[in-house]
Amino acid sequence: MPYDPDNIFAKILRGDIPCDKVYEDDHVLSFRDLHPQAPTHILVIPKGAYTDMDDFTANAAPEEMAAFFKAVGHVAREEGVAETGYRIISNCGVNSGQEVPHLHIHILGGRKLGRMVAAA
Ligand code: 5GP
Repeated sequence: MPYDPDNIFAKILRGDIPCDKVYEDDHVLSFRDLHPQAPTHILVIPKGAYTDMDDFTANAAPEEMAAFFKAVGHVAREEGVAETGYRIISNCGVNSGQEVPHLHIHILGGRKLGRMVAAA
C-alpha cells in the first residue's frame, strides 16, 4: 500500500492537528492515544513516512529502527509501566484491523490486560 500523506498521524507530525506529546527526538514522536484502552495508552511513531511494520522493517534505515525501538522502552520507563508490566501492539495490514496507515506501536499498561487476542 503506498503511503497516504493525509493520514491522521502525518497531520500530527506536520503540526496540522494537535497531540498530547509524551516524547520526541529526531526520528520519533510519541503521544497519548485519543481513545485510551487502558490507564496508560501511548502511541510511538517514526517521523519517516512508513505505512506499517512491514514497510518499516523492509525500508527504514538502521538509525531510524534503533531510535524507534529505544523510544518505546524509554517511554514505557518514563510513564511508569515498565515496572508493573505493559503490552506493545502494532497492527499491520487488513487482517490486523489497522486503522491509521502510519506505523505506530501502542504501549498499553496500568492494569491487567487480559487475553492477548480475542477468541475468534
Ligand atoms: P490502529 O487501529 O491503527 O492500530 O490504531 C489507531 C489508534 O489511533 C487508535 O487507538 C485510535 O484511538 C488512535 N487515534 C486515531 N485518531 C487519533 C488522533 O487524532 N489522535 C490520537 N492521539 N490518537 C488517534
